[in-house]
Amino acid sequence: MTGAHVDLGGRPVPVKKILCAGRNYAAHAAEMGSVPPAAPFLFLKPLTALHTGGGEISVPAALGLLHHEVELVALLGGGGRNLSPEEGERSIAGYAVGVDLTLREEQERAKRAGGPWALGKGFDHSAPVGGFVPAGGAADPGKMPIRLEVNGRPRHDSNTSFMLFRPGELLAHISRYFTLEEGDLLFTGTPEGVGPLEAGDRVFARAGDLPELHFTVRRP
Ligand code: MN
Repeated sequence: MTGAHVDLGGRPVPVKKILCAGRNYAAHAAEMGSVPPAAPFLFLKPLTALHTGGGEISVPAALGLLHHEVELVALLGGGGRNLSPEEGERSIAGYAVGVDLTLREEQERAKRAGGPWALGKGFDHSAPVGGFVPAGGAADPGKMPIRLEVNGRPRHDSNTSFMLFRPGELLAHISRYFTLEEGDLLFTGTPEGVGPLEAGDRVFARAGDLPELHFTVRRP
């Protein structure tokens, strides 16, 4: 199958858009010098950001400092407009662990200029995801330990229970602006612990009992 897609229980699902919540854990907002938002904070990644299957992720060294952000990722099985939080929750078909790879210097430049984060967040392969598990078969997504290690050393070690806005609440808010569709992905935000990735680093990400995501960083 060509084009961006993820596997859900052995079935390929074409991905339509990649929605990402920012500042959705208070401790991460604090470590970035930000305050928790009063309403969900959203940005997008293009489909060329999607990376499945682990292996190697190559990000040119010339693009500057690369950071990891481990996140729970929801795959939508339905959608629509103006959803309630409950309808948002019910529209989720599956969950995976993912990493919101970020070019931190590029993002900081954009913040200072008051511009969008498109380059710092949307570059090729900036959205690696692990295998998806059907929503009904996953452990409670609101109480998952969420972790990331680099070369065996812990960086993130939190729990999805610390999210400021639940996935259904994020989707309800987003659906006031965008039509949500089957195949949309939602990155639900990172807990505290973001940090740099160097050439050769081995990254291990885990959320609850979802399939683990492993990849090695290349900086050509
Ligand atoms: Mn993020």
